[in-house]
Amino acid sequence: MTTVALKDVTKVFRDGTVAVDSINLDVNDGEFMVLLGPSGCGKSTVLRMVAGLEDPTSGAVMLNGELANDLPPRERKIAMVFQDFALYPHMSVNDNIAFPLKLAGVEPTPRGERVTDVASALGIGDVLARRPSQLSGGQRQRVAMGRAIVRRPGLFLMDEPLSNLDSGLRAELRAEISGLTRELGVTTIYVTHDQAEALTMADRVAIMRKGVLQDVGTPTQVYGRPATLYVAAFLGSPRMNLLEASVYVHLDRYVTLTLGEQALYLPWDDIRSRAVAHYHGERIVVGMRAEALTPVAPDTPGDVLQGRIRYLEHHGHESLAFLDIGATAIMVDDIGAPVDADAPPGQRGLRRFGQVMQRITGRANEP
Ligand code: ATP
Repeated sequence: MTTVALKDVTKVFRDGTVAVDSINLDVNDGEFMVLLGPSGCGKSTVLRMVAGLEDPTSGAVMLNGELANDLPPRERKIAMVFQDFALYPHMSVNDNIAFPLKLAGVEPTPRGERVTDVASALGIGDVLARRPSQLSGGQRQRVAMGRAIVRRPGLFLMDEPLSNLDSGLRAELRAEISGLTRELGVTTIYVTHDQAEALTMADRVAIMRKGVLQDVGTPTQVYGRPATLYVAAFLGSPRMNLLEASVYVHLDRYVTLTLGEQALYLPWDDIRSRAVAHYHGERIVVGMRAEALTPVAPDTPGDVLQGRIRYLEHHGHESLAFLDIGATAIMVDDIGAPVDADAPPGQRGLRRFGQVMQRITGRANEP
């Protein structure tokens, strides 16, 4: 079993770059943790500190509950796979995968069995005799995975292992990788800047920005209830609608939520009231995912947002409507049957919205 805990871990490089800034993160035994963030946010540096390839400037890297700051990499029972996986070109697939076992002095018979098991789990059992140059990119990546995993590491570290592959293959391999590591029960930390990869593969996602950890949670949590405005805007396509609003709670128990020029008068028992009531008297940012907004007919009673359709965008399985609601534009997923999708922009006039999706993701002045 392997657990990882980072306690106030900071890395400042010699030139003064703060690559990682006081990160606290726990990775549970058998968990698939994805580190997600834009290029340069410090993901690889975190991974390299866990591997022992980089020393933290301060803080503690704990493996299985013990301080590991001074533990040499080879004693950490870790396997790593990088984006530029290097296979030995002169060796067969079989020998490439078997190599770490050979180095560890494993006898030929159990060695052969382990290689066969790993190769069949990765779907490369039929290419064991080939050289790397005779393989496709996806097969080469599977061999690199096989070589990393054959020693049954306690912890698997992967740094953008799929980024050199085309998108079809990436989708296929990401399911295989997360399936395989779960089957083996290996604790995994996986670095990527690709949110689709993160959300589909992870048990939990840790989102970083400029060396700082922004949010940690299951894909559903970080997508649905992002901890910061940054995460709200970073995750999801189309981007979450973020609108400035102000909140006023009236003593006779209703709430005014003012978005731009529109005021919604929400009864106390409206779920939206409860979401915003504790921001009484403040300006906030309300986040609304396009798919959480339901278009309704113009004469629908109740408090609904009104907007003028600016244009529609068709994506095959869904359509996005871009609306002006006063000064701000918002996106709505699937404008629904009542609107003629081919009508010229704007012509439909006002629409009203039954469900203002009501997520408060931060204060208006948050960066
Ligand atoms: P990418 O996805 O592009 O690999 P990343 O999120 O993995 O990015 P890191 O490689 O961890 O980011 O780098 C974090 C920051 O630290 C960057 O600003 C980078 O330029 C800087 N950095 C990395 N290694 C060094 C080094 N050896 N010396 C100085 N600065 C470094």
